[in-house]
Amino acid sequence: MRVYLDNNATTIVDPHVFEEMEPFFVQKYGNPNSLHSFASETHKPLKDAMEKIYAGIHAPREDSVVVTSCATESNNWVLKSIYFQYILTGRKNHIIVSEVEHPSVIATAKFIESQGCRVTYLPINHEGLIDAKSVRDNITDKTALVSVMMANNETGGIFPVQEIGEICKEYNVPFHTDAVQAIGKIPVDVQSFNVDYLTFSAHKFHGPKGVGGLYIKKGKELLPLLHGGSQMGGYRSGTLNVAGIVGMGKAMEQAVDALDYEMTDIKEMRDRFEDELLKIEDTFVVTPREKRTPNTILISFRGIEGEAMLWDLNCAGIGASTGSACASEDLESNPVMEAIGADADLAHTAIRFSLSRYTTQEELDYTLEVVKKAVKRLREISSSYAYAPDGHDSKL
Ligand code: PLP
Repeated sequence: MRVYLDNNATTIVDPHVFEEMEPFFVQKYGNPNSLHSFASETHKPLKDAMEKIYAGIHAPREDSVVVTSCATESNNWVLKSIYFQYILTGRKNHIIVSEVEHPSVIATAKFIESQGCRVTYLPINHEGLIDAKSVRDNITDKTALVSVMMANNETGGIFPVQEIGEICKEYNVPFHTDAVQAIGKIPVDVQSFNVDYLTFSAHKFHGPKGVGGLYIKKGKELLPLLHGGSQMGGYRSGTLNVAGIVGMGKAMEQAVDALDYEMTDIKEMRDRFEDELLKIEDTFVVTPREKRTPNTILISFRGIEGEAMLWDLNCAGIGASTGSACASEDLESNPVMEAIGADADLAHTAIRFSLSRYTTQEELDYTLEVVKKAVKRLREISSSYAYAPDGHDSKL
């Protein structure tokens, strides 16, 4: 049996999405900017897809949704444009991000920090969440941007973007949220809270890879990251990825349609699976269930290296994740586990299971049996587990 439980990394392309994309490779391959029928036959599909994307995040027509190549591009774009518009010109000197943003935000923040911008990295609390108050404590009249994600990719933790948006409004500071892990899992409505920029990526909600987007509120225009032609209203040059846009539109429409199923059925399956995992001795989950996206579990198995567990899972046909990059010599610990101050033993033991609407109960039952066997086998050969004091006093 093969079981895919790494849906926060990427998702299967929904067959209906693939079906809608297919004609735009071999049959309708015209460049939408050209002046002939090969071009014009792409116009309506593109328009329809954009409408679905606007509807999916409830964006008003007057605002912009710009298609990019991925969420990494969208995140880079926001931070770098803010740097050019506000920091380089000396109007502001500071941005705020959470310390557990995706690397596409953290690495960009570090880059602009190296160019002279002050960056505040907001800490997470013991539940792996951000306190909105920490934004208020750090915001100043020199802050050019606050960027805090809607949901964390490792824990699924849902961050208080509503409150953060209010604080940003009060201080008149632009607010960006990375909603990559939120679309299709929790409601995402740009009119329901104060947000100026919102990032998303099709491959996280059963769309194709290589296409994402950025919502930009009217009046909060950014400088283009990619200069060239007049595509996307001059906001983002480059020949349109017609198949990708059509696919993202269909995927967005389906993600919204399936939201109830994700929030009830998938959540119930996730909760049952988690209950069973937690019956295994010395297991820990950091973020409370109700404060998480319905599909995600980040769980630590004391005494077991995450990578060792992944190996056993992989041998049994199960794909999950440790959330940490496996460098050539060092096994890095999970960044969220480190940020909450988990002790060194525990920080290396986190495994992320992320479900999707394709996940079945049978797959989870099978995974549970494999996990139980792996825990038994790996603890038997684990020096850290064998030598740990009774009671395993953890910081968690
Ligand atoms: N932001 C978050 C929260 C993510 O989880 C990811 C992907 O893992 C990204 C951004 C980057 O997405 P993309 O692969 O579209 O660049």
